[in-house]
Amino acid sequence: MLLKEAKALQEVIVKDRRYLHQHPELGMDLPITSAYIAKRLKEMGYEPEIVSGAGVVALAGGKKPGKVFLLRGDIDALPIVEENDLEYKSKTENMHACGHDAHAAMLLGAAQLLKDHEDEIEGTVKLLFQPSEETLSGAKAMIEAGVLESPKVDAAAMIHIFSGMPMKSGTLVVAEEGYSTSSGDMFRIDIQGKGGHGAMPQDSIDPLNVAAHTLISLQEIIAREIKPSSTAVITVGQMHGGNAANIIPDTAFIEGTIRAFDRDDRELMKNRVVEVAKGVASVFRASANVEYRMECPSVYNDGELSEFTFNVNEDLLGKNNVINFSQAFPGGKMTGSEDFGYISEKVPSIMMALGGGSPEEGYPYPQHHPKVNFNEDVFYIGSAVYANTAIQWLKNNK
Ligand SMILES: [Zn+2]
Ligand SMILES: [Zn+2]
Repeated sequence: MLLKEAKALQEVIVKDRRYLHQHPELGMDLPITSAYIAKRLKEMGYEPEIVSGAGVVALAGGKKPGKVFLLRGDIDALPIVEENDLEYKSKTENMHACGHDAHAAMLLGAAQLLKDHEDEIEGTVKLLFQPSEETLSGAKAMIEAGVLESPKVDAAAMIHIFSGMPMKSGTLVVAEEGYSTSSGDMFRIDIQGKGGHGAMPQDSIDPLNVAAHTLISLQEIIAREIKPSSTAVITVGQMHGGNAANIIPDTAFIEGTIRAFDRDDRELMKNRVVEVAKGVASVFRASANVEYRMECPSVYNDGELSEFTFNVNEDLLGKNNVINFSQAFPGGKMTGSEDFGYISEKVPSIMMALGGGSPEEGYPYPQHHPKVNFNEDVFYIGSAVYANTAIQWLKNNK
């Protein structure tokens, strides 16, 4: 029923997606994107609210008492120049290469379905069109702006569309209980030495020597402090210092990233990077300052909500069209990060993926590639899944 109604909206969903695809914007700077989404919601009879200048929030239902279910779609693009030859190709230097244009359009489709069924909703559905996912900061900004309050959100769901993966178009992938993405934290270590003549090291403190020892020591955190059953990464991606063979520089810096699934591992690594950097620096008479510039927790999926989401969408889409993360991703997890993690720290949450084109179907390019595209035929499925999950959950959790 809902799926059929969603299919009837397919043309509108594709039109919305193509408009957004032509006008990709970055981060929190989404004037065209949020204005378009707000305009479309108003056309449907919503009273959308712009949050922090970039996010869009709207409420559906509320006529019958009940809980509040949040549907989240991210809406920002990437600084990539599109290399596709499409009639709806990006008009700017940016590109919707992660499919967030599809997320926005699918959530608009869900908004229409929810409006059409508004009298039946047993509680409230909160629609969140979220900015700045690609910088892993938008969800946090929305939470700080109060998106999970008034009305207070009880549970949340998201969908990410995927292309270029061996996942049949239209397959819905539901995360199992536990972590489904890795956390992502970027650190910078500034080492303060004492510059001087290369021939007189005794009068200097060499920050390059400190940087070298720091790099090696950071790896021992993985080797000696993380349990063997965990998957965790500390990568140093850049080291800089000095500019001549005979000068001991005054400073040096290191930048790197920490990835983990388990929250305890993440906390341990974040703390130990600071302690190791400062400790190594002090061993060699230097000092170090550590700063985290980008931070994002892993997505944690609620067990009960996971099972529920799987079952109600299997009813919607049919038996072989819904699978679990462990059937789609190695180890049942994605190594990328997703700032929905912030929301999953606050309320029971579920992450879903939607197959949006596999290599065999003619979609060889992965997300963030200048030639990636998505199979538009599946967009209505995303809309139906969003609406169905919310309506059913509210009905079962009165
Ligand atoms: Zn992305
Ligand atoms: Zn994305």
